[in-house]
Amino acid sequence: MTNQRREIFCAVAASCEHPSAETIFLQVRQTLPKVSLDTVYRTLYSLEQMDLLNRVGAASRERFDGNMLPHAHFVCTECGAVYDIFPSQYAVPAAPQEARAFGAVCRVNVQFKGICKQCRK
Ligand SMILES: [Zn+2]
Ligand SMILES: [Zn+2]
Repeated sequence: MTNQRREIFCAVAASCEHPSAETIFLQVRQTLPKVSLDTVYRTLYSLEQMDLLNRVGAASRERFDGNMLPHAHFVCTECGAVYDIFPSQYAVPAAPQEARAFGAVCRVNVQFKGICKQCRK
């Protein structure tokens, strides 16, 4: 892993906020002054392909999650906030036979989309 990639990964992994690429960019720029937003995006996508983080959130407002423990998300379609739902509150479903018929399932992605309490006020 290059230093740049490690810094970007650590910034995502250390956050519980499901940061956007812009948030990560502003943060890592302090230690990597030459980094571009484009590089941050490309690095985040490659970390996702390496299964080191997940892409979550509403369309065009993607956020990144460094917590790889199985959990579901509530995504606000108004403000783009992403909240974690852990298995103590909700069991992440096992893949049904119909899904496994297509191949080996290695990950389940559950997102509940709606309008958060703050936005409903
Ligand atoms: Zn909201
Ligand atoms: Zn999460």
